[in-house]
Amino acid sequence: MTFTRRRALGAALLLPLEALAQTCGALTARQTEGPFFTPDSPLRKSLLEGGEKTRLIVTGTVLSAQCKPVPNALLDFWHSDEEGAYDNRGFRYRGHQHADAQGRYRLETIVPAQYPGRTRHIHVKVQAPGKRILTTQLYFPGDPGNSRDFLYRPELEMKKSDAGQASFDFVVEA
Ligand code: FE
Repeated sequence: MTFTRRRALGAALLLPLEALAQTCGALTARQTEGPFFTPDSPLRKSLLEGGEKTRLIVTGTVLSAQCKPVPNALLDFWHSDEEGAYDNRGFRYRGHQHADAQGRYRLETIVPAQYPGRTRHIHVKVQAPGKRILTTQLYFPGDPGNSRDFLYRPELEMKKSDAGQASFDFVVEA
């Protein structure tokens, strides 16, 4: 093997490791917003009203396809309640927030229930300032309903770090 070929092989071996270190690159998959989106949700990071038993904290970063944090990205979350119903009159379990200067967000809410035809999921719209809105849905790893839901996508699963703690990094047009 010539020196040049060795170097080329070395570079090829390094590339996959670099790729593994990055959680961005491809844009986060888009999904339907479904029938229950309500515009103008309240500005709030916590959707809890007190007394909830199934608390869930979702954290993550909004990134560009170039793996740069997107400061001040807008995130608008909505999901069903503990019975699988949406509040279509008010704003229960609906809220928007802005990512911080490092593109990080933190949502405090409950674990939504599944409802007929759907596995457990959280709806979200994410937008870099002045850019195209990404509408998608987040799923719960290991949920038995996932395999029965035709909208479910494994790449939209949150990472569960702990009971009541999950994370997901969005990659958006920025
Ligand atoms: Fe839904």
